[in-house]
Amino acid sequence: SKELLKVNDLSIQYITEDGTVKAVDNMSFEIGVGETLGIVGETGAGKTTTALGIMQLVPNPPGKIVNGEIFFEGENLLEKTEEQMRKIRGKKISMIFQDPMTSLNPVMTTGEQIAEVIKLHEDVNDKEADKKAKKMLETVGIPAERSGDYPHQFSGGMRQRIVIAIALACNPQLLIADEPTTALDVTIQAQVMKLMKNLKDEFETSMILITHDLGVVADICDKVAIIYTGYVVEYTTKENLYTEPLHPYTQGLFGSIPSIDDDEERLNPIKGLMPEPTEMPDGCPFHPRCPKAMPICSKELPKRQEVKEGHFVNCHLYSKKDK
Ligand code: SF4
Repeated sequence: SKELLKVNDLSIQYITEDGTVKAVDNMSFEIGVGETLGIVGETGAGKTTTALGIMQLVPNPPGKIVNGEIFFEGENLLEKTEEQMRKIRGKKISMIFQDPMTSLNPVMTTGEQIAEVIKLHEDVNDKEADKKAKKMLETVGIPAERSGDYPHQFSGGMRQRIVIAIALACNPQLLIADEPTTALDVTIQAQVMKLMKNLKDEFETSMILITHDLGVVADICDKVAIIYTGYVVEYTTKENLYTEPLHPYTQGLFGSIPSIDDDEERLNPIKGLMPEPTEMPDGCPFHPRCPKAMPICSKELPKRQEVKEGHFVNCHLYSKKDK
């Protein structure tokens, strides 16, 4: 499909007391119109920073985009002014965060909050905005009569539906959802994910779904980028990833998926922990935990290689030169 977003070699650093931290390192991926990309990784792997980078909301200081290009509809967002970005955020690219309360204003009614975004980006009067806001509420499964209610009058799942209504109110081309269901009860999670999938199709929105959960990816994504310590280790279609995960970290993630038939919650967890960003090992960042590590792995950072068509892996196991 036609390309909507193309991220090239994006690097984002943070200045900390312990030195410079590479939160996102040389990240590249792309999303076509109507596609969903899953970005999967553990807490601290750089998922949220990537999203904030695309939105240009990385707090500076201490954060800074130090390299890369972010082409959205063919234009590099990194060359836009803050004023231009404000017209893009909420209108062309929307973001949904993990905790709905961080995006909702506790002292405004839900109807007012949805209407506010619409008025910010579209040439409509109060009445039209209000009408559209009510329609959006219904679209996410909340009765229009409740548009006068405040966020605290809703359950967690309902609040996230309201956030989704706000995010989709201006029919954005791209929705970035950062762990949108993690804070919710398990049963509610499935409902909210289903709603997002349906709305994404209905609105023909492309989506970046940030998650630590490979199960969520299986349901909704077309492509997946597995990230570890700020960089993409494997990037391919969902089908490729599920049929033949190639990177040892990805294989480990699959090994640690709880199986319905087993009592043990984690069958083969990956041993050890992801390194602290200030204590990154030389070579492949995964080598201290990798069951397949070779001598070269602690010396050289593996480069991205297209192992099979459309299947990209950063691992020395697949580089002919190194073997
Ligand atoms: Fe494991 Fe080496 Fe591949 Fe890193 S490069 S994932 S250490 S085999």
